[in-house]
Amino acid sequence: MPERDMKSMCPSAQPEMTGSRVLGVVEGEAGARVRYLSKPLPVDGKVLNLVTPMRPTEVLRIAADCATTACTNFDGTHCTLVQRITRLLPPVVSTLPACHLRPTCRWWHQEKAEACMRCPQIVTTTVAPASVQREVAEPPHL
Ligand code: SF4
Repeated sequence: MPERDMKSMCPSAQPEMTGSRVLGVVEGEAGARVRYLSKPLPVDGKVLNLVTPMRPTEVLRIAADCATTACTNFDGTHCTLVQRITRLLPPVVSTLPACHLRPTCRWWHQEKAEACMRCPQIVTTTVAPASVQREVAEPPHL
């Protein structure tokens, strides 16, 4: 299918977003890494109960339809979040992670391997973020 005909998916989304599904599970605390699932898992009550009392985005990476202009990270053309990730964070793997989302992942289509080699360190919700994590998360003031 041509790239332009495929829906772009956000790989660091919220459970209530359209098209949400579990992309991976966060393992470890300091130096947390995402273990990508071999296939997507629906974000349903069973999954949400399993992670309670944590917020789902503290322990899961959730993918969902990219919200484009409804997202503060979207500048009309690009996802600025993945731009900050590739600019501010180091790679944490040297080869592409096995990831079922790649064919539709906005980060991959925008930044290619530079995104994938940094992606496993991304935790959508961090309770006590380091200063660089706050800088990465800060959307542009449009
Ligand atoms: S950036 Fe790469 S590893 Fe991360 S979700 Fe997208 S395709 Fe998967």
